[in-house]
Amino acid sequence: MTNMQHTLARNVPAMGKLIDGLKHTFLGDPNRANGNCPAMLIKVQCGRCGEIISVRVDKASDLLAEYPDAEDDSEEAVQPDGYILHKEVVGRQCQNLVRFRLDFDSKRRITKQAIEGGELIEWHDTE
Ligand SMILES: [Zn+2]
Repeated sequence: MTNMQHTLARNVPAMGKLIDGLKHTFLGDPNRANGNCPAMLIKVQCGRCGEIISVRVDKASDLLAEYPDAEDDSEEAVQPDGYILHKEVVGRQCQNLVRFRLDFDSKRRITKQAIEGGELIEWHDTE
């Protein structure tokens, strides 16, 4: 009985290390596989205090796919025809909430923008 417990206690940490190693191998860095610009850097200016707030947006996980007419079950309806990004940010200098929404076409280019509580200053692709 005592022997058995010793064996288990020694094996558990080794298993943990092995699983961690596997996770790294299989998951890798998903952003790298997704084209050369996986993210966007968006700068907004707080409408109350003027602070410039930078927001990093991951294109793969932060953009919501928009599908054409849900009633339409043809082949084309399966592909998203655009993407939407909703973000709410608060700067460091005050508690003013800056809320914006960007619309993208199917190639992830911005087609429309709307912002409350501040102004959109600039945006560009980034690593
Ligand atoms: Zn502010």
